[in-house]
Amino acid sequence: MRHTNTLIIGQGLCGTWLSWWLTQHKHDFLLIDEGKTTSASRIASGVINPVTGRILAKTWMIETLLPFALDAYTKLGNSLGIECIQSTRILHSFPSLQMKEAFDARLPEFGEYLQVPDDLDHWKTLMESPYGIGSIQPALLINLNLLLGRWKEELLHQNRLILERFEPTELIHSENSIQYRDIRADRIIYCDGIQGMQLPYFNRLPFAPNKGQALLLEIPGLPSGHIYKKGISIVPYPTINGEQNPTFFWAGSTYENDFITEEPTQEFRERTEQLVRNWIKLPFKTLYHWAGVRPANMERRPFAGMHPHYPSIGILNGTGTKGCSLAPYFGQQLAKSIVDGSPILPEAHINRFSRLLRP
Ligand SMILES: Cc1cc2nc3c(=O)[nH]c(=O)nc-3n(C[C@H](O)[C@H](O)[C@H](O)COP(=O)(O)OP(=O)(O)OC[C@H]3O[C@@H](n4cnc5c(N)ncnc54)[C@H](O)[C@@H]3O)c2cc1C
Repeated sequence: MRHTNTLIIGQGLCGTWLSWWLTQHKHDFLLIDEGKTTSASRIASGVINPVTGRILAKTWMIETLLPFALDAYTKLGNSLGIECIQSTRILHSFPSLQMKEAFDARLPEFGEYLQVPDDLDHWKTLMESPYGIGSIQPALLINLNLLLGRWKEELLHQNRLILERFEPTELIHSENSIQYRDIRADRIIYCDGIQGMQLPYFNRLPFAPNKGQALLLEIPGLPSGHIYKKGISIVPYPTINGEQNPTFFWAGSTYENDFITEEPTQEFRERTEQLVRNWIKLPFKTLYHWAGVRPANMERRPFAGMHPHYPSIGILNGTGTKGCSLAPYFGQQLAKSIVDGSPILPEAHINRFSRLLRP
């Protein structure tokens, strides 16, 4: 029998951050991950954007989350000997006159994030931008492939990661312990992304799965120090399968609430290639096409904490389109609450669904 304090299911962004913070507290844990290559964290672009949407609204808690993320990813990267985060800017080619007007209207209010770039002429030689270009800065870009891959290696090295599928039906739980096959623990925390909505303990949470697709493009000549946006985003994606290449860019995405297949669609590929052709004045080649499902929810707030009625079962999930900024922050809150009972922000705490989750 193997004993540990906490068993974590899933090593996407949520499981990675929870396990990292538990390591910081010298808390013993084991993690099980089945290595799904199309999980949301494995195909995400890795952007933390402070101002999003058509009306350019400030991202929830961004004043706290952005500096927190910069510090947390820098520290985790340093401990692994990698640079996995950079502060950058998003060059927003307005897709319409209305978008330019919305940007101009927000400028005085969100001056700390929105600027008019002073090198417009340079960018106009590289991209079609009839309505002009605005800049969103600071934005953060995380090299997720590098980070998740290196953390996985580290966990394997520490003998804390089991690479296999976890079978939820084999879990036995009581008020203060769980048993799964030959593992005994004080608690289990599900960080299993969209699979979490199938679990009997959590299937009443207001999950709203959201499919996203993206292409991996090779675009020689496009500067790799910026993120580009015009309806879709083109994001530097320098590491894939261990290979480094500054001409690789991620292009996407969709936000599909109604989807009949989780697979990539030809329609997305053709439409996205056409959008890029009409926008970027450089030749490109498509190398991959991915599709994945975001663990989004109706409230757009994470699910963090121990189950209000099953105290040995917990969750960190529901990060939707914002896993890069929500997972480090709420991973830390959950880790601290496990270690010393510190509170979790009520808007993110799973306790808000106490009635809904009643057995
Ligand atoms: C196309 C796309 C683009 C995105 N871009 C961004 C972005 O730029 N910025 C941003 O902040 N967010 C982005 N997101 C959202 C972000 O990816 C998610 O919020 C986040 O990755 C969710 O992380 P997670 O750990 O909850 O889930 P996941 O990434 O799905 O990880 C779950 C893990 O659990 C494992 N697992 C599941 N079930 C089992 C089981 N039974 N046994 C063992 N292991 C299991 C899987 O193998 C996986 O590793 C994007 C998402 C998509 C789809």
